[in-house]
Amino acid sequence: MRLKNGDRVGIVGGGPAGSFAAIHLLTLARQHDLRLQVTIFEPRDFERPGPGGCNRCAGILSSRLLRGLKSVGVQLPPDVVQADLHTYVICLGSETLEIHQPDPTRQIVSIYRGSGPRLQQGSPLASFDGFLLQKAVALGAQHLPQRVRIVRREEGPVVHTGRDRFPLDFLVLATGINSRPPLSTAFGYRPPKTALMAQDEILRPASWPNDQVRAHFREPNGLLFGVLIPKGDYLNISLLGKGLTRDSIEDFIAAQNLNQTLQFTPESSLCGCTPRISVSPARRFYGKRWVAVGDAAVTRLYKDGIGSAFFTTQTAMRTAIEHGVSRQAFQLWYAPYCRRVARDNRYGQLLFASWNFILKSPRLMRIWMNAIQAEQALPPREHIHARILWGMLTGDEPYRRLFRLAFHPKTMLDLAKNLK
Ligand SMILES: Cc1cc2nc3c(=O)[nH]c(=O)nc-3n(C[C@H](O)[C@H](O)[C@H](O)COP(=O)(O)OP(=O)(O)OC[C@H]3O[C@@H](n4cnc5c(N)ncnc54)[C@H](O)[C@@H]3O)c2cc1C
Repeated sequence: MRLKNGDRVGIVGGGPAGSFAAIHLLTLARQHDLRLQVTIFEPRDFERPGPGGCNRCAGILSSRLLRGLKSVGVQLPPDVVQADLHTYVICLGSETLEIHQPDPTRQIVSIYRGSGPRLQQGSPLASFDGFLLQKAVALGAQHLPQRVRIVRREEGPVVHTGRDRFPLDFLVLATGINSRPPLSTAFGYRPPKTALMAQDEILRPASWPNDQVRAHFREPNGLLFGVLIPKGDYLNISLLGKGLTRDSIEDFIAAQNLNQTLQFTPESSLCGCTPRISVSPARRFYGKRWVAVGDAAVTRLYKDGIGSAFFTTQTAMRTAIEHGVSRQAFQLWYAPYCRRVARDNRYGQLLFASWNFILKSPRLMRIWMNAIQAEQALPPREHIHARILWGMLTGDEPYRRLFRLAFHPKTMLDLAKNLK
């Protein structure tokens, strides 16, 4: 079941996964001398500031994604990059610990998914999702600013937008997890499980460095982590934990004693949303002439969802071009990759559970902090504890590798040495 010249491909959703799908598909098609008609259905206007034009995320791009973009010839324009981030400051009550970028090749940056906060001052900022969509269009995709109401299964998939009907030879589902998937029940698709996050944007205080992310833990009750990310004139606050609401941002700032540093008042809030994050893989996410990618399929747990979207779409589109669009092709060439991501997330769950366990014990915390401080005297490549934390916080190393490093006898011995 191979794609042929003139085949119609519909990509539902023009977030990162949708645009990456078009970029990979059109690049590979060109290499195989194949001409496809690619349409991206995306109703969101990324030029609009605030939640209306934004796919709601903290907006850190990992080094593995930046390398991936380079490999397909996509260069981020300077106005899309809001900050070059070099340091994570781990805040544990009154103590802070700085984790620096392990080496220059592991660059991470912050971006806006839309055009900046809802109540921003000045003209709209450059949107990362908008930039990617333009890239896809420049490569030959057509962008249709329409919401897909339903995709039915007839001879092949048929997209209905309410206004028009589009029979397809191949459908790519890239709708993420923050809206109802438009597939009819005939596809059997079961979306991933999700957890709620809370976010807001405030003005960045003048004293706040533009290259440091701050990560807070423990308070208020139920918080897994809260991060403050500089983005040009603004600071993004993103929380993950149990029972979050829009008010959680205020509770977090109060619980972490950040009111004064941030000069926070209820009027400081410039945006605010409570988006969902994926915490499990989807089920039955491919079939004859269709495949789901990005968050709609499987993503890395908590970190680097955009990087995950790049690599799942690359594997799915390579399958479509090189092996065809049958269920068997996706089962053989795409599903194993997705299973690897899901397996890696289990190591991520274990790492975050261990981290939470350490956070609850002042004694373990002290041992671990001593170990981090002690390794500062060693050459950078021997900063194992810092590397594990950098990898967990930025998502630029597989969880499995970090887990093995964390539970390596040498790392354990090193911790034992700091038992004082
Ligand atoms: C609070 C928070 C913070 C995060 N921080 C980071 C981070 O710092 N770095 C990182 O890499 N990842 C982060 N993520 C994860 C990241 O946001 C996702 O992994 C990423 O957006 C997935 O891309 P996607 O294209 O699959 O889905 P989305 O970005 O959700 O895009 C889906 C697109 O589909 C469109 N769509 C939906 N339904 C339809 C329809 N019926 N018809 C047409 N179009 C439709 C939507 O308008 C949207 O544009 C974060 C997530 C959350 C919730």
